This record gives sequence, C-alpha cells and structure tokens, in this order.
Amino acid sequence: MSPTDQSPELLAAAVHEAGHALAFRKARVRVHSLQVWLKDGDAEGLCRVDDSHIPDRLAFLAAILAGAEAHARFVAQHHGMVFLANARRAVAGCASDDHALFQHYAHGVSHGRALSRARSFVWWNSGPITRLGHKLARTGRLSGWSL
Ligand SMILES: [Zn+2]
Repeated sequence: MSPTDQSPELLAAAVHEAGHALAFRKARVRVHSLQVWLKDGDAEGLCRVDDSHIPDRLAFLAAILAGAEAHARFVAQHHGMVFLANARRAVAGCASDDHALFQHYAHGVSHGRALSRARSFVWWNSGPITRLGHKLARTGRLSGWSL
C-alpha cells in the first residue's frame, strides 16, 4: 500500500500544489519547491515561488487560484464520500491563504478574470497536474530538477 492509498487527502493537497506550480511555470515565474505533509490528520501544502519579477500579472493571479481549481476538479473526478469530507476541509484551509495572496498581488485585476483563466488552465492541463500531484504525494517534497 502506498502512502497515498492511506491518505487521499494528502494526494488532493498535492494536486492542489501541483496546480499552482504548473500554472506559475506557465506564467514564467520560477517555482522553488513544493511540499505536502500531514498535521493532526489534515493535509497541508506549500508552493514557494520567486515573485521578484512578475512578467504577466493576470497569469500570476490565475496561478494563485489554480491550486483550489485543480483541487476541486480532482475531487470531482474521485467522488468518494469520505474523501470529499476530508478534501473540503483541505480546500477551506489553503483557499483562505490563497485568497489573502490574491488580494496582495491583485493590483486592480478582477477576481473573475483571473478565475476564468485559472479554470481554463486546469481544464487543459489536468493530466500533467495529476501526474505531478502523484509524484509530490509520494515524495513529500519536490524542488529544482525534480519538479
Ligand atoms: Zn493554494
């Protein structure tokens, strides 16, 4: 049994971080590392990026929203009841951080525009996002060349 069989919640959190990472890369922003871990039975995650240069603000903001979008799409595709209850908690936890980040970087760009960009990105990149999520859930941390 792999760790992800024991914790679908960890896998969902990993897919969330993978959604951020691939969308940031698409926005030409350097991704330093991704991490997921379990804390008191809840999955938590982190995507560290270099924000010193933001070439495309709309794409950058879409990447902030792409985590929750990837998470929601993944959960919808794997609709187990227990899993849903866990995943909803994980979404609520991380989405609140993402919301604060969005406000910080928004500079007048509308949430709706960024959200529609994020949805479209996740729709077209669902395969790579899921693959990177599985890899992250297996290892717990990815950085540099392994990303
Ligand atoms: Zn997030």
